[in-house]
Amino acid sequence: DNGLSEADPEVRAIIEMEKERQFKSLELIASENFTYRAVMEAVGSCLTNKYSEGLPGKRYYGGNEHIDELETLCQKRALDAFHLDGKKWGVNVQPLSGSPANFEVYTAVLKPHDRLMGLDLSHGGHLSHGFMTPKRRVSGTSIYFESMSYRLNESTGLVDYDKLEEMADRFKPKLIIAGASAYPRDFDYPRMRKIADAVCAFLMMDMAHISGLVAASVLANPFDYCDIVTTTTHKSLRGPRGGMIFFKKDPVLGVDLESAINNAVFPGLQGGPHNHTIGGLAVCLKYAQSPEFKAYQNKVVSNCKALASRLIELGYKLVSGGSDNHLVLVDLRPLGIDGARVEKILDKASITLNKNSVPGDKSAVVPGGIRIGSPAMTTRGFTEKDFIAVADYIHEGVQITIDAKRAVSGSKLQDFMKFVASPEFSLKDRVLD
Ligand code: PLP
Repeated sequence: DNGLSEADPEVRAIIEMEKERQFKSLELIASENFTYRAVMEAVGSCLTNKYSEGLPGKRYYGGNEHIDELETLCQKRALDAFHLDGKKWGVNVQPLSGSPANFEVYTAVLKPHDRLMGLDLSHGGHLSHGFMTPKRRVSGTSIYFESMSYRLNESTGLVDYDKLEEMADRFKPKLIIAGASAYPRDFDYPRMRKIADAVCAFLMMDMAHISGLVAASVLANPFDYCDIVTTTTHKSLRGPRGGMIFFKKDPVLGVDLESAINNAVFPGLQGGPHNHTIGGLAVCLKYAQSPEFKAYQNKVVSNCKALASRLIELGYKLVSGGSDNHLVLVDLRPLGIDGARVEKILDKASITLNKNSVPGDKSAVVPGGIRIGSPAMTTRGFTEKDFIAVADYIHEGVQITIDAKRAVSGSKLQDFMKFVASPEFSLKDRVLD
């Protein structure tokens, strides 16, 4: 059997190009990271060959003695990494990623068309928390369940808990979801618990973005207040692409979460677990218990604060006025430009970040902000000083965007994109090049 270079030089070449892109660019996407070499070794191993439907000790396929050992080890490490007592909490490590993990929870605790509430997408929530527009039920969550989103207070940029309480009292959801994809502050779990209790709802935290920070106890602990906690494994946690669902072992609101969630994962929504991912996840969760991991997560936050402070010094408006976690959200609207244009210009300079909606935005296609994250470049050894330089680079990109927007004939985003792709426009002679 040949290696990749011999068997498929075309795919090998694409991988090499992507590796070079990752190596040369400034990776500032808040949901991305560089995983460990040891994780990649496990993910690229023979574990991918095995079917193991079911759970350790209860499989629908033979030959699973080693896979059972692996999944049991992964479960134990998951509970240990988040400082959980195995008598009170259980975990399913089979979800294929974050969105399936969330849908598996909904399948476990809700009936079709039951009600749920998550943070609005345009205010930092995730699609899988129930996003819909007045015209369209966009995510599976809003197609199969009735969703009403809560929002931020637009003047403070913080979750509007008073309004959430008022809406929950009227809407009577069965599930309230904490967690976000673009929220620079921590969640008030005691307040959300109270709101959920008042309407007899389950409280779930989707800690996908911040699970590394939670494992390192850099942010508040959602397990003290929530019934269910989901996460992806590839963001601040630095693992392979995957998902996990943690659940209370004692019944909640009359539901045995352990069997409901395990059954929702398999046979409800998935077949065979991705054992190579579970292998990589076990490795990542071993790292997550090390002092180096805690030091790394502290740096993720201090680097992000350095970035935020420099951006404020440069005159930028940040949603909520700063950051307590791994990301900042910059409101570009006061400068007369938007996130889509800035993202494009920075991309040309190998600086990768996201355009992002900011509270009060009219359009999701041309949103008014950008989201900048610190986990990936912190993995690559960046310090606070480096992140101050990153803020300065972004500032240059913003100035170039303002100039380019002025130079474009036509006001549509397409006109701008065409202009920056044309030979007429070049980053040459500009510092960013
Ligand atoms: N939950 C949150 C809060 C996220 O930010 C994301 C992805 O960015 C997900 C869930 C979905 O994860 P995946 O893309 O792995 O399905």
